[in-house]
Amino acid sequence: MQRRSRSPRLSRYYTLARLVHSDTAREHRIDNTPPPELIPNLRLLARGLDRIRLLLGHPLDISSGYRSPALNAAVGGARNSQHSQGLAADFTCPGFGPPLAVARALRDSGIAFDTVIYEFEEWIHVSFTATPRRRVLTIYDPEEGYLDGLLDAERQPVA
Ligand SMILES: [Zn+2]
Repeated sequence: MQRRSRSPRLSRYYTLARLVHSDTAREHRIDNTPPPELIPNLRLLARGLDRIRLLLGHPLDISSGYRSPALNAAVGGARNSQHSQGLAADFTCPGFGPPLAVARALRDSGIAFDTVIYEFEEWIHVSFTATPRRRVLTIYDPEEGYLDGLLDAERQPVA
């Protein structure tokens, strides 16, 4: 009999392990295990990521999903971050294109995300909630803060 150690599958494409993995947590030996009551949120997130995966037609490279309070503090995340609730992930999709193209595809899709943020030209933050707002934001500079809509580097709306 072959035995495999498996992480629970939350959706077609994503396991629990995939959404709690963090290089920072591993490096600093931070426990990033979510409490059981957050599993339904992580399942909602995983199903949303499935839709993005299917929309883009290429695997997502997820750098951060769930963040325990200790991990969130270590990465300087906002205290009430949707990551801490198991509702958000940061990702890129190199097979599809640069982050701006990914953000535009999400904005123009029918996917019921809560918030998409095009962050620092480097990655996409996406969250899913029971009451999705389909909010799209851009951030280039922490001092400038979040800007409404999907904006290019000249702060002009992306067509
Ligand atoms: Zn994020």
